Amino acid sequence: MARNTGPVCKLCRREGEKLLLKGERCFTPKCALERRAYAPGMHGRQTRFRRKKSDYGLQLREKQKARRIYGVLERQFRRYFKGAERRKGLTGVNLLVMLESRLDNVVYRLGFADSRAQARQLVRHGHFDVNGRKTNIPSFLVKAGDLIAVRERSKGLAYFRDLSTVMENKVVPEWLSLDIPEMEGRVLTFPTREDIDVSLNEQLIVEYYSR
Ligand code: SF4
Repeated sequence: MARNTGPVCKLCRREGEKLLLKGERCFTPKCALERRAYAPGMHGRQTRFRRKKSDYGLQLREKQKARRIYGVLERQFRRYFKGAERRKGLTGVNLLVMLESRLDNVVYRLGFADSRAQARQLVRHGHFDVNGRKTNIPSFLVKAGDLIAVRERSKGLAYFRDLSTVMENKVVPEWLSLDIPEMEGRVLTFPTREDIDVSLNEQLIVEYYSR
């Protein structure tokens, strides 16, 4: 269950855009990209954002950006790509749908967590049931019809008690439904590309792996 444990704001600075990896902090002046809008490293200030990228460079950066947004390491990301290729339809869209179907992403999208990293931790700590069964695997892929619920024993925790007021202001994507009093959400259908509001050009990722 490997994950990136390094400083995450550096990842945004490397990509030159906000990847929103730290929840609320990303919308405050404390955001590292607001304070240091240049690539990390000794020479980041001078060159990296301005250098013209090759086609390969563009494809690589897009792939890295997707990995970083969803918190997936290279080997697993490649597995998702292989799986996306096997599915019917556009490989790039299939890839995004698979990434969106990860349990940690769904927990984040439902508003139970401020960021995907936090959602991942909540899942790992066993706070969620999927269809009534405890599921603590962040990469678990949900299906249409699945019910994701905060476990009974976790509902009494201060974190989840305080969360219900915050969640009222969250906008849940159309492919999910949320029941705040019951602290549960349902996957209504798989998302379409239009439902996935991440600024990624999935075609570049397909090109990267098709070299
Ligand atoms: Fe990225 Fe958020 Fe850090 Fe800003 S605060 S650099 S958006 S992770």
